[in-house]
Amino acid sequence: MGTLLRLFSPLLDTNKFLLSSTFSVSSYRGKNLSLRKSHHRIQSRRNFGDFLDLKPELQPEDLNFDLPWFHPASDRSRFDVIIIGSGPAGLRLAEQLSSYEIKVCCVDPSPLSMWPNNYGSWVDEFESLGLEDCFDKTWPMSCVYINESKTKYLDRSYGRVSRKKLKGKLMEGCVLNGVVKFHKAKVWKIEHQEFESSILCDDGNQLKASLIVDASGFASSFIEYDKTRNHGYQIAHGILAEVDDHPFDLDKMVLMDWRDSHLGNEPYFRVSNSRFPTFLYAMPFDSSLIFLEETSLVSRPVLSYMELKRRMVARLRHLGIRVKRVLEDEKCLIPMGGPLPQIPQSVMAIGGTSGLVNPSTGYMVARTMALAPVLADAIAECLGSTRMIRGHQLYHRMWNSLWPIERRHTREFYSFGMETLLKLDLNGTRRFFDAFFDLDPCHWQGFLSSRLSLQELVMLSLSLFGRASNPSRFDIITKCPVPLAKMMGNIAIETF
Ligand SMILES: Cc1cc2nc3c(=O)[nH]c(=O)nc-3n(C[C@H](O)[C@H](O)[C@H](O)COP(=O)(O)OP(=O)(O)OC[C@H]3O[C@@H](n4cnc5c(N)ncnc54)[C@H](O)[C@@H]3O)c2cc1C
Repeated sequence: MGTLLRLFSPLLDTNKFLLSSTFSVSSYRGKNLSLRKSHHRIQSRRNFGDFLDLKPELQPEDLNFDLPWFHPASDRSRFDVIIIGSGPAGLRLAEQLSSYEIKVCCVDPSPLSMWPNNYGSWVDEFESLGLEDCFDKTWPMSCVYINESKTKYLDRSYGRVSRKKLKGKLMEGCVLNGVVKFHKAKVWKIEHQEFESSILCDDGNQLKASLIVDASGFASSFIEYDKTRNHGYQIAHGILAEVDDHPFDLDKMVLMDWRDSHLGNEPYFRVSNSRFPTFLYAMPFDSSLIFLEETSLVSRPVLSYMELKRRMVARLRHLGIRVKRVLEDEKCLIPMGGPLPQIPQSVMAIGGTSGLVNPSTGYMVARTMALAPVLADAIAECLGSTRMIRGHQLYHRMWNSLWPIERRHTREFYSFGMETLLKLDLNGTRRFFDAFFDLDPCHWQGFLSSRLSLQELVMLSLSLFGRASNPSRFDIITKCPVPLAKMMGNIAIETF
């Protein structure tokens, strides 16, 4: 994203963008003159909205950082902690541990690569963590189109995370105290002895540590589950696009656009959208640069990716958005809800593989930034110079620091939210969000930021029921009992 913003910096409000990139605008433009010509030829044949034949023109570039590498020949291969993966979760934990002088090795196939995903977050969440300088752009307000005639304006600013700035800041923190090393490899296998674990990497190296933390993301195979993984999925297709024009206000990001009039001439899509609705999420950078993402909030089984893209084409056509160039694209697939990993187990987890993603929203980055310090603190207490807690006792302490009983209960509640959303059709979903965004801001904001206690979540539910329309109450009464009973059962099992 940093690269893109630099590229488009003449087009952007430079007061709001805090840019830095080594990418050369002039060389980029020169390189693309011929590209532009062929684009014009394609464009003259392309209908409004139809962007599927366009290839993304930019790849995020690597960070230019002088990292302290692990040298197998000269360095000791024994660490306090090995972190598998240097995505947002792994790097944040490493950065936090470095301030405790805990010896860490981060293992990742490409530690300097830019993270592939684009992240959004509420500005206050990053501000409270001192990360407010890690946005590319912020919007003072957000909005939700409930339907063709109703729009909600949310007085909460939203930001597009600068991957370059956030990754750079976390890496700087890692390097500062000289106790974090990086190893460029993929972890194949983890083995455990009584007080020590080891990893085997694809380059043949074996590294040892008192604790292995898996931060390798949703696809991890290192974490064990003792219950069936019945999660839902958020699926989305996003493009950062140069467009002729778009209809959105530049001072508002579009959190959700549930309008469906674009499907008026698409009977099949209209029916399937009524049952499995998708919305548009949009970040307008300026009148010709916009991030657009068609999103299925949650589905089980997962909604077809091709259908999602076709719906997006129809939507953009209806909105009169002609995509001239796709600068970046992303396929987003986030497993949501389902059981937590087995607690405890010999490998600790953080980030996507640890159950931290909010089961009702798919958000996770800000929460991981907030909880990694809690885990780091617990690790320092066990492995720091004064305490020597190892083995099973260590694993038990780690898992309970990330997932104390109260947090497990609230997660059950968010999973209940997800199960409820799964049962709602388009009209039910619209009614739900209509009532949801009428709640007291401390409730809807707290819910979206995963920061409400169980009591607060119960208050939110009562308030939501009180504000809901009669059809919405009918939805709640008819569709919620089974998920509610499941949630109560799970809370009871966890408590006793
Ligand atoms: C497209 C997309 C968009 C998203 N947008 C948002 C958003 O806007 N806001 C939000 O809050 N959340 C968002 N999420 C959800 C979540 O925050 C992200 O998935 C986030 O990247 C998870 O961070 P992570 O560090 O746990 O894992 P990842 O970001 O997946 O990082 C894992 C790292 O581990 C490495 N790795 C994997 N296997 C191994 C191995 N065997 N050995 C060594 N290294 C390994 C990978 O190369 C990678 O570098 C999004 C998710 C996706 C997929």
